[in-house]
Amino acid sequence: MINRRKFIHGSAFTSFAALLANKVQAMPSQEIVTGKPVVISTWDAGLAANKAAWDVLSKNGKALDAVEKGVMVTEDSQNCCVGLGANPDRDGFVTLDASIMDDKFNCGSVAFLERIKHPISVARRVMEKTPHVMLVGAGAQQFAVAEGFPLEEQKLSEDAKKAYENWLKKSEYKPPAINVENKQGHGPFAPAKLESGEWNHDTIGMVAMDSFGNLSGSCTTSGAGFKMRGRVGDSPIIGAGLFVDNEVGACTATGQGEDVIRVAGSHSVVELMRQGLSPEAACKKIVERIVKIKGDKVKEIQVAFLAVNKQGQVGSFAIHPGFEYAIKNSTEEKLVKSKSWFNPVKNIQ
Ligand code: ASP
Repeated sequence: MINRRKFIHGSAFTSFAALLANKVQAMPSQEIVTGKPVVISTWDAGLAANKAAWDVLSKNGKALDAVEKGVMVTEDSQNCCVGLGANPDRDGFVTLDASIMDDKFNCGSVAFLERIKHPISVARRVMEKTPHVMLVGAGAQQFAVAEGFPLEEQKLSEDAKKAYENWLKKSEYKPPAINVENKQGHGPFAPAKLESGEWNHDTIGMVAMDSFGNLSGSCTTSGAGFKMRGRVGDSPIIGAGLFVDNEVGACTATGQGEDVIRVAGSHSVVELMRQGLSPEAACKKIVERIVKIKGDKVKEIQVAFLAVNKQGQVGSFAIHPGFEYAIKNSTEEKLVKSKSWFNPVKNIQ
């Protein structure tokens, strides 16, 4: 995984007064307005993914092709949280979730999929070749194989192996066993507050607008590390981890999937943009909704939303500091630190 600190971060940040407050409030919007085409994606892995998406977008390709090609790069890499090398479930199996959505409400997804390298492409086939939206588990794998996707062996990355071995030492098999001491896992059962105070979730969610002004999105993940076998998060659920409405905008999510699902996160963000909120303001409102629902437990989870509207305005908001997203258009390519509900300074203890 790319080391986040090696990159110069963008400056979508808070005022000094807000930094001193317990939480970020009423910040002036400093959202990025981009031209089209544009692609944005979650976390630092988004930098490499955006490049692949840009290859498509810069040649007047379709946003749908861009968001598939883009996240395939992450699925191919040895990322902690995406693809066959990622953190396994509690029983040692890597199970993958992915979804894709185009500019006409066509959508497809797969969940609890094993031994397939590119779940995002299987999700696209579900969208294009079946009358359904979602296939799961053995059925999704059977469909993938019938479509010509090879059955692979899972190849845990060295980091994932170590993280799993570490988790096995305690292997608390009772959800939700929040283990904030575990610095390597991620997700509900090992949310991994890193020593730096950052939260380690690395699902890749990507949304793009092509040169025709059309939007599409994709989202792919191995889900929460050391999750219960069969657990499915928000990423493959249309309206939770991903939503696109070509008249309004698009949104994707990362973080604790259960809490994204319970507020229909990405759909809710898009609906708020429809009512006139900017992408950042819409993301913030839904983060606030989760914060309210979770009460004290909000300290234990991270959730972040990333959105773009039809005007090419980009914004994000997270519960905790540490979330960043990658953006690429014809003039810039960078990582941007997201604003967050918890104070970035106070939160790092
Ligand atoms: N949202 C993903 C899930 O809950 C995890 C993540 O973003 O890290 O499956």
